[in-house]
Amino acid sequence: MKIGDYSLRRQPKPRSRWADPHRPEYYPAWTVRLQLPARPRRDVSSKVPICELCLAVPQKMNPAKERPRCRCQGPARKWADERLRAEGRLWREGRVDALRGLGERSTSPSIGALFDAYEGGMPARMQAGARRNMAALAAIVEQTTGKAARPQSVDVLTKRLALDWMQIRQAARDLPGRTDRELRAMLAAGDLQALQTDVPLAGNATINSMLTKARAVVGRKARTYYLGDLGDRLPPLTGFLQLSRLPAKVGHQALPEETAAALVALGERWKKSEPEKWLAFAMMAGMGLRPSEALAARGHWLEEIDGQPVLVVKNRPEDGFWLKARAKARARRYAVPPAMQALVRGREGFLVAPGLSKTGRSNLVYRTMSGEIRKVVGDDVKDTNYLLRKAAGSAEYTEKGKEAAAARLGHASSDTTERHYADYDAVLPCLVG
Ligand SMILES: [Zn+2]
Repeated sequence: MKIGDYSLRRQPKPRSRWADPHRPEYYPAWTVRLQLPARPRRDVSSKVPICELCLAVPQKMNPAKERPRCRCQGPARKWADERLRAEGRLWREGRVDALRGLGERSTSPSIGALFDAYEGGMPARMQAGARRNMAALAAIVEQTTGKAARPQSVDVLTKRLALDWMQIRQAARDLPGRTDRELRAMLAAGDLQALQTDVPLAGNATINSMLTKARAVVGRKARTYYLGDLGDRLPPLTGFLQLSRLPAKVGHQALPEETAAALVALGERWKKSEPEKWLAFAMMAGMGLRPSEALAARGHWLEEIDGQPVLVVKNRPEDGFWLKARAKARARRYAVPPAMQALVRGREGFLVAPGLSKTGRSNLVYRTMSGEIRKVVGDDVKDTNYLLRKAAGSAEYTEKGKEAAAARLGHASSDTTERHYADYDAVLPCLVG
């Protein structure tokens, strides 16, 4: 009886290691992808060389399918048949743990290879974020294992690792001055206080955000968009990816006061010398618009209500504009403050920088402004433009509560507001005077 299945695969090297970025390079031996019932599939190297002709098959195609009768594949299939038979025997006997000791090691990539692929697969504008995510992942591995992250296999990313790391981080808060090495030794000796997963503690928000960054490197989005072929070779890492977040205090984690003040000052500077930047800034930080909404807003979105100009943000099929939740989203209305009125009066096209090209307007918000805000708020903030929106939402939340904040931000559910926006009590007064 045959148990399980396998396929032959040609394994590309990480894109960052190709001599020519347009010419794929592959590992020289056939990889065998093994699948036993109810077991994660695994890739193992057969050590059987792939011939030049099979290597030359175009990248999107699988030479095992394109040239099934090629002579180089016979020995690889023979190897795979034997391997599958041996594994099937162990599987039938219920000795799945023994599979690990069988022959070659699993070919899970190293964390270093993963980093290279992740960073290499990112568009340039996202690489700063990628580096922050990788730094978080490396820190978690290094602080918990005491060894450099890059040479280790991604298999080290287990639920256990994440739990140990969280426990060490919580302990570090209570035992200031201890080194990571000391904390690890205490953990190993059973001398650390148990991980507290039920109470919001200071520091939990940081622990959560570090984990979120680290998971971004191996999560579904990374596998789909950034890791290229390496994404297929990653084990599921379910335990590491699905571990619950620690409860964190919400509603009162302010931006440092000097940071908030510096942001206000930046807004004021723009207001005087670069009014188009200020306009976009005020629409996001004052009204709470998404960056895309601020960029899309047009003159005819302004209505006179009770003698006051009001910006109405809603689905605008005639402009090719749809709100994020599209069907569910309701129109939102924003009073236009006097300083803004002076700027936008009479504009018929786009409200923000109507004189610039599409690319120019997008660069203004997503690159230039974003870069200048980044200098003020530092590298820890994930998305600078969303920080502005977050500030507007949080100010509303503090003043009028969750429902009001959800309405301002245009969230279909106020739970979203709670999850994403309530942890900043970043009140930026008089941004939009
Ligand atoms: Zn061949």
